[in-house]
Amino acid sequence: MDPSRVTCDDHTKTPAREEIRDCNVYRVVGGIKRNKRAEPRIHATKGRETVSVLTSFTHQHSLDILLAKRRNMNGTANGHSNGDKSITYSSTRGDPTQSHLSFRSVVMRGLAHDRGLFVPDEFPSVTPEELEGWRSLSYADLATEVIAKFVKDDEVPRDVLRDIVHRSCGAFRSDEVTPLVKVNGHYILELFHGPTFAFKDVALQMLGNFFEYFLSTGSNDGRLAVLGATSGDTGSAAIYGLRGKKGVDCVILYPKGRVSEIQKRQMATVPDDNIHCVEVEGTFDDCQDIVKASFANAKFRDRVKLGAVNSINWCRVLAQTTYYFWSYLRVTDAEKGVTKVNFSVPTGNFGDVLAGYYSKKMGLPVGDLIVATNENDILHRFFAKGEYHRENIQKTISPSMDICVSSNFERYLYHLSGEDSATLVGWMKGFETTGKLTIDGKKAR
Ligand SMILES: *Cc1c(COP(=O)(O)O)cnc(C)c1O
Repeated sequence: MDPSRVTCDDHTKTPAREEIRDCNVYRVVGGIKRNKRAEPRIHATKGRETVSVLTSFTHQHSLDILLAKRRNMNGTANGHSNGDKSITYSSTRGDPTQSHLSFRSVVMRGLAHDRGLFVPDEFPSVTPEELEGWRSLSYADLATEVIAKFVKDDEVPRDVLRDIVHRSCGAFRSDEVTPLVKVNGHYILELFHGPTFAFKDVALQMLGNFFEYFLSTGSNDGRLAVLGATSGDTGSAAIYGLRGKKGVDCVILYPKGRVSEIQKRQMATVPDDNIHCVEVEGTFDDCQDIVKASFANAKFRDRVKLGAVNSINWCRVLAQTTYYFWSYLRVTDAEKGVTKVNFSVPTGNFGDVLAGYYSKKMGLPVGDLIVATNENDILHRFFAKGEYHRENIQKTISPSMDICVSSNFERYLYHLSGEDSATLVGWMKGFETTGKLTIDGKKAR
């Protein structure tokens, strides 16, 4: 079926799946996906399977999906909570006032006050035995376990965490939340079963529920005004994540005539009182400039208690790690000889693939992470040549990947610098003034 014909009030039904006839977003060429119309071609390595991550169902090109058999996974969490301390977070840019902060503070804050991004002070590890123990869990119970590696009772009591995760997953049309399907011998991880048909729902459903919990338990005097600019996906997913949430107002700016009709209606037809859409005469960058100017005005920011939901919020990255664990377990359920799983991930702001990188850091047997871009290929150029050089944006059929600078990439660069804020700040300052950052080829991977 043609997703452009999915009407916006049809949120309760999954579009019928038939067959991939032209899987036009997904082509792997030498490890890089291009959005040319072509069959997926994925190089095989012995003992490995590759999962292609499918992030959207809302763009204007057709995408027909093979009707796949569904497994009915049911299990219960082993429910233990070991009572130790939650992981803390520090800014990539090293300001001492932005160091060793709690999960609650970094979720409420979004960007660090030194303009850096929050990264965990350490990565919890998942042992192979633990991973095996998670095999029978439902998606929601698995997500609870993965998040509980970072967030312990001292931050969010386990029963509250479980409730937040279960409610977030409950908004999806599939019990498996992110089902893994096999199409013509290739595994595809479907991230589009949330309320807005785009993968950002995975993170934003969770973020909305965490905001509500933190506001109701003392953060920010109970009020938050989320302001965001969108070219489509983020705005709709944010609205569906925040609608009706107590204490939250949500203002979304979008450029007139430049978001898809489906997404415009997704945003503009939500009746909840706390949702406010503003159509801006201009481009996405004009919307973004209004948002930036609002945040730059400290008085205004503090008076209205401005907050953001952009993809740098730690909660979003954390929520996304779960489906790497989920899909690893589902691939290895089906493929006995497989010990490692590669992931090919459509990439814009580097949030989705960063979650894969962090899953690997936690001990998940991930092989290669394939950073798939469209023509806006700054990340491809970085991984190929060590050149992170800004270029003008090109409009493509995958607008959520039309990004000339990847906002989450600073986190990856921080790890690459040997977690040395001084080096990182030097790199970012250079990049901000010249639009160019070149890193010696050996370091770039
Ligand atoms: C946001 C988005 C992406 C890119 O994800 P990042 O986490 O920004 O790299 C890819 N596809 C769709 C449909 C998206 O909405």
